[in-house]
Amino acid sequence: MFSLPDLGYGFDALEPHIDAKTMEIHHDKHHAAYVAKLNEALEKAPEELKDKKIEDLLRGLEDIPEDIRTAVRNNGGGHHNHTLFWETMKPGGAKTPQANLGEAIAYSFDSFENFKTKMAEAAMGRFGSGWAWLVNEEDKLEICSTANQDSTLTDGKTPILGLDVWEHAYYLKYQNRRPDYIEAWWNVVNWDVVASRL
Ligand code: MN
Repeated sequence: MFSLPDLGYGFDALEPHIDAKTMEIHHDKHHAAYVAKLNEALEKAPEELKDKKIEDLLRGLEDIPEDIRTAVRNNGGGHHNHTLFWETMKPGGAKTPQANLGEAIAYSFDSFENFKTKMAEAAMGRFGSGWAWLVNEEDKLEICSTANQDSTLTDGKTPILGLDVWEHAYYLKYQNRRPDYIEAWWNVVNWDVVASRL
């Protein structure tokens, strides 16, 4: 059984960049629903799958019985993606990537500014619902995006930072202005948490 993790900070902690109402609905309704539906799907799963970590379920989607595979992909992905999202927006921490992470970003993307541009392009280029990701590949960092709640773990890539570009993440405050939401989101990234995932 999976459970909804606490945010670890108040719904209003990311104001004015991400508003409290959006955070409340996003965490208490959207994320909670992914957790509930994941647990519901796993009730029908073979016993050996029930104790697996969420990361292992997503890495091994092809081993999950077909009748629950889509439910685990969507809701397990939703659970893991959002858990990472909340953690990497925790207030406090460095405002820009420091030390090893700063070096890895400079090595992989030439500069922090160029990295931000590429990440925003991935987020804008995702048609409809999905995510933009910074992933840790073997020898460098890469940017990618996934549709819906697909996890990069299923493609063998470890995410260290993710940006939710589903409309539910920004519509109340930003309506159709996804670029404004992306620009504001940089203000709430906790680079110490991202660095700890490197
Ligand atoms: Mn979301």
